[in-house]
Amino acid sequence: MGAKILLIEDEEKLARFVELELNYEGYDVTKAFEGREGCRLALSEDFDLILLDIMLPGLSGMEVLRRIRRSSSVPVIMLTARDSVTDKVSGLDLGADDYITKPFAIEELLARIRNALRRKAQGREDEALSALGLRLEPKGRTVEYEGQPVELTKKEFDLLHCLLKNKGMVMTREALLENVWDFDFDGGTNAVDVYIRFLRGKIDEVYDIKLIHTVRGVGYVIKDE
Ligand code: CA
Repeated sequence: MGAKILLIEDEEKLARFVELELNYEGYDVTKAFEGREGCRLALSEDFDLILLDIMLPGLSGMEVLRRIRRSSSVPVIMLTARDSVTDKVSGLDLGADDYITKPFAIEELLARIRNALRRKAQGREDEALSALGLRLEPKGRTVEYEGQPVELTKKEFDLLHCLLKNKGMVMTREALLENVWDFDFDGGTNAVDVYIRFLRGKIDEVYDIKLIHTVRGVGYVIKDE
């Protein structure tokens, strides 16, 4: 299933046109023709992206955005009726991710949607992760245990990152190989065991914690307890 998009737009003809085009691209679209209903949907369902018109009956697009931002960082693209600098600036100030001026070419809207979704996925990839006092910062590629730097090689870091991203989920050796090593790596799954040993030597043993658990016959899991 494609990404879930909420379209809040009171011009029904335009909304239906955009919906058709988005469906054609494989997106799953929910429409709201009014601000209050759009806001309710935005806060009660899990959308990947919101297209939000500024001039709306009920609640204005700006007010809808303000309410959404109190509790959600979902990407929002504002649809502005005119080329108003004020609207763009206040929309961006309120936390909109992007805007597009009507009338727009559907290709431009699609490109902006793809960008916003890509940035969202990237943001998740860049998120700092932690477990048991250990903290991994993907952007600077640093790891700390209770503030003390932990020096890891590239592969050790990537393996730890992969396990932390899937904290609480058992990762098979095959899944770890596929995620951390190149596809053409032919060293076999015991490379995973070797690197798990390196990681334990640098973390579990040094700080006397049980971070990486072995699930016999399956793989490995990081537990935060
Ligand atoms: Ca409107």
